Amino acid sequence: MLKWEAKRLSEATTCYLGLGANLPFAGKSPDQSVIAAIDVLAKMVFDDVRRSPLYVTTSVPDTGQPDFVNCVLVGETQLSVSDLLTACQKVEAQFGRERQARWSARTLDIDILSYGDAVVPADGTWSALSADAADGAVMAPLAVPHLSLHERAFVLVPLVDVAPSWRHPVLNKTSVELLQALPKADRASVRPFSAENA
Ligand code: ATP
Ligand code: CA
Ligand code: CA
Repeated sequence: MLKWEAKRLSEATTCYLGLGANLPFAGKSPDQSVIAAIDVLAKMVFDDVRRSPLYVTTSVPDTGQPDFVNCVLVGETQLSVSDLLTACQKVEAQFGRERQARWSARTLDIDILSYGDAVVPADGTWSALSADAADGAVMAPLAVPHLSLHERAFVLVPLVDVAPSWRHPVLNKTSVELLQALPKADRASVRPFSAENA
């Protein structure tokens, strides 16, 4: 169990996290790591957690990596958004994450998809930022909502499961509307997980 002494805010904020894994770690398959990590997050960070079903997706960009298991959770947290990122990175490390090149295969990835209605950076520059601009950088400044969530079917399909009416604070579209805007082939590439198709 991780020791966590971050400051607790007086108000809880609803936030969404995206989890993904495509490498086994310590005897756990990727789906088992995702479920176990949600249990750790539930104890460490959240007052209340719900999660989507698990999905399987071919890796993006497709570099011949194993398929990813993906999931989205929604929880109430009293952590600040920057402490939440630190907590996510601690849990990734606990599940064997080594920070190599961006988008490389990994035992566990946890992204902050959104944090209340917060937009980070708050200076109006979010729209000008691009995940691709980091060009494989392992370190990138915190951006919330996640810069790629609206482009990724493997995020939006499970996000719609837990929060169909969630509204993107910058793009002003719901998760359902964002998913419908994606090409049909993208949406079809996200398959329900079962032990047989793992
Ligand atoms: P992507 O962010 O495109 O999904 P990735 O998850 O593979 O790629 P990582 O290597 O896990 O990328 O993280 C790269 C950097 O992104 C980290 O330094 C992290 O601080 C930063 N980052 C910026 N915004 C977020 C966010 N909303 N959630 C998680 N990490 C973020
Ligand atoms: Ca990610
Ligand atoms: Ca990440």
